[in-house]
Amino acid sequence: MSARVTRRLLLAAGAGGVVATVARAVEERDAARMARTPRGSGDGPASAAPAGRPRRPTRAAAARPSAPQLTRPSRATEVRRYAGLSPRAWGMDLPGTTTDLAPARAVALTFDACGGPHGDGYDARLVELLRHHAVPATFFLNARWVRANPSIAAELASDPLFEVGSHGVRHLPLSVTGRAAYGIRGTRDVGQVWDEVCGGIDAVEALTGRAPRWFRSGTAHYDDVALRVVHDLGLQVAGFDVNGDAGATFSPAQVAAQLAGVRPGSVVISHVNHPDGGTAAGYERGLPLLLERGLLFRRLTQPPG
Ligand SMILES: [Zn+2]
Repeated sequence: MSARVTRRLLLAAGAGGVVATVARAVEERDAARMARTPRGSGDGPASAAPAGRPRRPTRAAAARPSAPQLTRPSRATEVRRYAGLSPRAWGMDLPGTTTDLAPARAVALTFDACGGPHGDGYDARLVELLRHHAVPATFFLNARWVRANPSIAAELASDPLFEVGSHGVRHLPLSVTGRAAYGIRGTRDVGQVWDEVCGGIDAVEALTGRAPRWFRSGTAHYDDVALRVVHDLGLQVAGFDVNGDAGATFSPAQVAAQLAGVRPGSVVISHVNHPDGGTAAGYERGLPLLLERGLLFRRLTQPPG
């Protein structure tokens, strides 16, 4: 079964009767707030990695390119630009969404930190696993999560292994008509789309000193007009082709099974804000198998050189 088919089946399941599960998958659950104690030094010795595993990037390779200096279109400009334009499409994989990196062969692991009353946790065990294996990843940080976890957010942002993208401010589906996903009402108009995206940019910029390159909305849903606003603001939109943890609701075995469906060029979505979920344990089972397959990993933004 291809990863893409797997993802579609998950979506079909969401529409077909396990709505509560999928709603849980996308919105935050009640989460234990206690992050687990990180294991080890957090920087596994290179000699412990078997042949073929990606190594922690060198300083030169890890240097992240600075974002282009963009003049952001103002809120009023965007509202004017799209006045009277009705959306024609809605979903998680509209044209203009990066759902995989093919023909590139390296795999991008992405982890959302959704924030909010039930989404402010931190899965230290998962992050230490990535560090132990020197596997790069991209974190999509919601502004609320950054506010709740300032020191951890700064730590992730300063680690050259990782890239930080934006996961918005209010964690809303991105719509110009208030369209909902999983029962969560989306932004209501172009102005609210601008607010959600620019607020997210500002949160990441305050953290890293540069604007993010990538954006993923709460629930990862968009209409086509909202997508255009995101692009106008200079961001690429991160979709996915492998749903790693269904909003951290999957058991470790389910997470490992999803990871088994990863193929070269896949973009995998999982969550780093539910330390009580099965995500870390699933990656502990599944990630070594991907490394044994010889798969390489990258951040969404490929460092120069
Ligand atoms: Zn989220």
